[in-house]
Amino acid sequence: MPAYKAPLRDMKFLLNEVFDYPKHYASLASGENATPDIVDAILTECGKFCEEVVGPLNQIGDEEGCKFEDGEVTTPKGFKEAYNQFVMGGWQGLSAPEEFGGQGLPASMGLLKQEMMGTANWSFSMYPGLSLGAMNTIYLHGNDEQKQTYLVPLTEGRWGGTMCLTEPQCGTDLGQVKTKAEPQADGSYKITGTKIFISSGEHDLTENIVHIVLARLPDAPKGTRGISLFIVPKFLPDGNGGMGERNGVSCGSLEKKMGIKASATCVMNFDDATGFLIGPENQGLECMFTFMNTARIGTSIQGVGAAELSYQGALEYAKDRRSMRALSGKKEPEQIADSLIHHADVRRMLLTQKAIAEGGRAMMYYAARLADHMVEGHEQGDTAKAEAYDDKLGFLTPILKGFLTEMGFEAANHGAQVFGGHGYIREHGMEQIIRDTKIAVLYEGTTGIQALDLLGRKVLLMTQGGAVREFTLKVANFARKQLTNKRMRPFALELLKLTAQWNVLTLRLMLTARKDRDAISAAAYDFLMYSGYVTMAYMWARQAAVATSNLASGEGGESTEFYNAKLATAEFYYERLLPRAQSHATSMLSPTSNLMQLDVEHMAFHG
Ligand SMILES: Cc1cc2nc3c(=O)[nH]c(=O)nc-3n(C[C@H](O)[C@H](O)[C@H](O)COP(=O)(O)OP(=O)(O)OC[C@H]3O[C@@H](n4cnc5c(N)ncnc54)[C@H](O)[C@@H]3O)c2cc1C
Repeated sequence: MPAYKAPLRDMKFLLNEVFDYPKHYASLASGENATPDIVDAILTECGKFCEEVVGPLNQIGDEEGCKFEDGEVTTPKGFKEAYNQFVMGGWQGLSAPEEFGGQGLPASMGLLKQEMMGTANWSFSMYPGLSLGAMNTIYLHGNDEQKQTYLVPLTEGRWGGTMCLTEPQCGTDLGQVKTKAEPQADGSYKITGTKIFISSGEHDLTENIVHIVLARLPDAPKGTRGISLFIVPKFLPDGNGGMGERNGVSCGSLEKKMGIKASATCVMNFDDATGFLIGPENQGLECMFTFMNTARIGTSIQGVGAAELSYQGALEYAKDRRSMRALSGKKEPEQIADSLIHHADVRRMLLTQKAIAEGGRAMMYYAARLADHMVEGHEQGDTAKAEAYDDKLGFLTPILKGFLTEMGFEAANHGAQVFGGHGYIREHGMEQIIRDTKIAVLYEGTTGIQALDLLGRKVLLMTQGGAVREFTLKVANFARKQLTNKRMRPFALELLKLTAQWNVLTLRLMLTARKDRDAISAAAYDFLMYSGYVTMAYMWARQAAVATSNLASGEGGESTEFYNAKLATAEFYYERLLPRAQSHATSMLSPTSNLMQLDVEHMAFHG
């Protein structure tokens, strides 16, 4: 397993030079304490914790996995100690409101922390990640008493959180949820049902676990309009800030799975468990979307993290391992053979990983600024502001989640490929990154579901193409300003072509969908990937523009080599990866009949 090194130079380049976070933080009420010095100190400290404590547990966690005995789950060796350090460092509350014991820093700071922690050890980061989703849900939809009871211990990290949606018969289609909630005379509810695949459902890291559960009230309307949301704690609160009796919720078993083995994935049984309604009756799914959106953005980090970690391992190996001579002549004549890194095909894989890691990180940091404004809107009770930023972020969320996790999985594959046969051997950890990353394209809504959300809901139904028009206008305005610069012109021209094409594709799909009901589902995946490639192209152009300008002026916080590397990677992205967008464009406009014409019974002819 590659030893994780926090990519602090790249992170600071994006924060300080590309997206001007110092100015952004200065404009936020929560940014008062996020001065450049403090941000720098936090990043350094977090990087150290991830490199020295969390990262070294990644491979051990995979080998040992979680253990289940008599309803109790034990995390792998070292996890509890590392989690205690995490709690003592106050990391869970980094971006949580001060009134509940947090440090009140902007939401984006939490994302930077999540990126480092998740790259170092995704399984470990799942535990605090789920808690964060629970915190956000209670903060936004809980009543005052619920906030007072749950937010402080969750923020401190003493209690953990979960998201209990999935049941044996449904994961995507939550309208099929069967778990029941019976109202009680004291205002609480009795929750009964089985949830599966529940991450962090049971474990030994925290003293209590707060389950956020979707369930159905008696006589609730069928489908998604009849689902409500409940808080179901493992131990009931005693009313004095402590824990009382054990609730009727228990872990039935642990799933045996492909990857993230140190993250406990539990079957959870609710047997007349006491639950408390959160948010309005029958609007549970809307409230749960808060959780899901947090989780989706969190999951997109998994794609970036996989690309980064796998790249770190592959790069080191490619410099060290020797094979044959470079086609353009010996590069290391004193050695028996040249190292892998001198072969163009190996560089294709390495640069693909690098372009995905750094381009994906830029996409995350771009979105994180929007998240800061959205959170500020909520905190200030400025609904219009919160909704406006929620819409902008809502458009990007499926692109981030769908595209970045697919690309991260591709990058992880390249990482093992660079190792040749050794990539398939456990010792090096490259195959673990592939196994750990596959889940990212599945949970929190599969890529297919993200694609439907993007094209069907956000682009066509909710905005009739307006979301694409708004975003592409921003990109095109940026591109136009770059046209006068010789070095930037090729990037700018390509971006202008793509932004126009993105709108044309949207319009054509809108027209097709009026006549052909399968058209949206048929085109959605290609539309999502196309959108991802173009968004990443915008991010690479933004990085290239800063590099170009700093090289010309001799300013900026980085070295000439760093800026040249940015430009070289941007060129690689535009010339070798971005052309894939055109195959997605062709594919999305092809007739639906090529998918639907084959009769179900003619899909295979066995025996
Ligand atoms: C390790 C792990 C951790 C998890 N953690 C949690 C958790 O903490 N909490 C929780 O509640 N759940 C969790 N899940 C569940 C996860 O979110 C679901 O498995 C996932 O959302 C997919 O749902 P499903 O398995 O029911 O697949 P299905 O919904 O059965 O989908 C199967 C396939 O059909 C496609 N599909 C389905 N419907 C449509 C449609 N209408 N149009 C086009 N294509 C469609 C999907 O894209 C997919 O390819 C976890 C799962 C795993 C494996």
